[in-house]
Amino acid sequence: MKKERKYIFVVGGVISGVGKGVTTSSIAKILQSRGLTVTAIKIDPYVNVDAGTMNPTEHGEVCVLSDGYETDQDMCGYERFLDISLSRLNYMTTGSIYSKVISRERNLEYKGKCVQVVPHIPLEVIKQIKKASEEADADVTMVEIGGTVGEYENILFLEAARMLKIKNPQDVMCVMVSYLPTPAKVGEMKTKPTQHASRALNSAGLQADIIIARSSTPLDKKRKEKIATFCNILPEHVISAPDVDSIYDIPSNFERGNLGNIVLKTLGLTQQVAMVSDLVKWRHLSSKIKSLEDETHIAIIGKYFDTGDFVLSDAYISVIEAIKFSAYSIGKKPILNWLNAADFEDEKQYKKLNKYDGILVPGGFGERAIEGKINVIKYARENGIPYFGLCYGMQLLVVEYARNVLGLTGANTVEINPMAEHPVIDIMAGQRKKLAEKDYGGSMRLGSYPAIIKKGTIAYGAYKKDEVTERHRHRYEVNPKYVEQLEKAGLIFSATSPNGVLMEIAELPQTQHPFFLGTQFHPEFEARPFTPHPLFTAFVKATVAAGKSNTIRPVP
Ligand code: GLN
Repeated sequence: MKKERKYIFVVGGVISGVGKGVTTSSIAKILQSRGLTVTAIKIDPYVNVDAGTMNPTEHGEVCVLSDGYETDQDMCGYERFLDISLSRLNYMTTGSIYSKVISRERNLEYKGKCVQVVPHIPLEVIKQIKKASEEADADVTMVEIGGTVGEYENILFLEAARMLKIKNPQDVMCVMVSYLPTPAKVGEMKTKPTQHASRALNSAGLQADIIIARSSTPLDKKRKEKIATFCNILPEHVISAPDVDSIYDIPSNFERGNLGNIVLKTLGLTQQVAMVSDLVKWRHLSSKIKSLEDETHIAIIGKYFDTGDFVLSDAYISVIEAIKFSAYSIGKKPILNWLNAADFEDEKQYKKLNKYDGILVPGGFGERAIEGKINVIKYARENGIPYFGLCYGMQLLVVEYARNVLGLTGANTVEINPMAEHPVIDIMAGQRKKLAEKDYGGSMRLGSYPAIIKKGTIAYGAYKKDEVTERHRHRYEVNPKYVEQLEKAGLIFSATSPNGVLMEIAELPQTQHPFFLGTQFHPEFEARPFTPHPLFTAFVKATVAAGKSNTIRPVP
């Protein structure tokens, strides 16, 4: 018998940024924990064809899927919550949908018909949603529509939801995540913006089946009833979602509001699944997080979190989560400190680094603050501070080593100096051609590739296996011409591509430094709450050990 696939659209009301992604992940988690197969789709209303060309300060981290698609950070959030791997079918933008429709039109697939914004764009959206659902063989497919209702940008995606619902009324439901402000001077939580959002949703032909009421404090009965009356839904379907300390509390909080049963009832799924969630492991994790006392202090050196007066850690969300999972797994509380790379262009600032148990330089692009990062890496190497470099952080480790240990003062990455005397990080031939044609989107090595690990190294000690698969996103590589020299000077390339040409991990022997390691790939994308990434765990263990022996490095 053909599977009856169900779809849950998650839309935002009032303002964005109040947790639509986490809500989507949490509902999916609840359903998964009841024994259903679940997948999740993110729709970004931008015209960008993928997220690869978006600035992380504005848009948050670019999440690279194992198939190499560059997507929104929510996608990596779904992967972490659900412990699954998603594909390019799970992500779409206005640009990706339009480009598909236009290429179909060019291929005469519409057989001479006028191709119209409606219905052809929403139909293409529905086609992809169904394909993603089939690919995952999902009982339930979550579809998060970016932005908020009432915006011009996402109207065609709401239209897709409406069209799908009209054809399959029992199989489609809509959850609105809305914000309830409590103006400081008024001191009372206000439902009016949510009422307006609900009307905006109605005018797109949709009715919320559930409203997730996001607010700083829990929703009271009076307001719950008010929302129910004015937004045309049952009071039990208004779920209070106050701010929490950890996002891993949210599935359990939702279950306390009976969300799982309401969803199952609305979609007619009560017969085939467990009526209680198995969230034991999650509750365990939440309470463990709260009870941790023993801290380890890690500095993250970057540039993308410097947006005016705000610190936008969203640009590194997978790195943060990966550190947390590893720290939690060994019973430590990670304290993350955001340091601006540009500050370390000034030598006098180096001492600031002494108070941290470990330093991490995450991925990045371009010239800004690069010398600051290189100075930090040098300081970490010379002072035995555990150092973990991700992608750019590994390339700069190699540049630093070439300059300061090999004495190649003109060493650089050609990303910064195309005429570098010693291009220790160089562009790959295939990418060079694409760049010359100004084909920036898609000019990178993207997605999962295998790497072979050398025995007797930190990497091997962490992974405990000969071959691993990790996700990549970079244009540049360690220049094979310099590998021998670097190795002679003591750097170990502890992982390479299977043909031995591409350097995947660089490290120093532990006899010289407690932990000095960089990866050309992004291990953060493979870290999961209950299966932390082995390299992150090795790094965090090193920071804990460094914290204990920190008396050697006086706190300034
Ligand atoms: N900018 C470097 C490259 O393109 C590193 C990329 C990254 O850190 N993701 O190779």
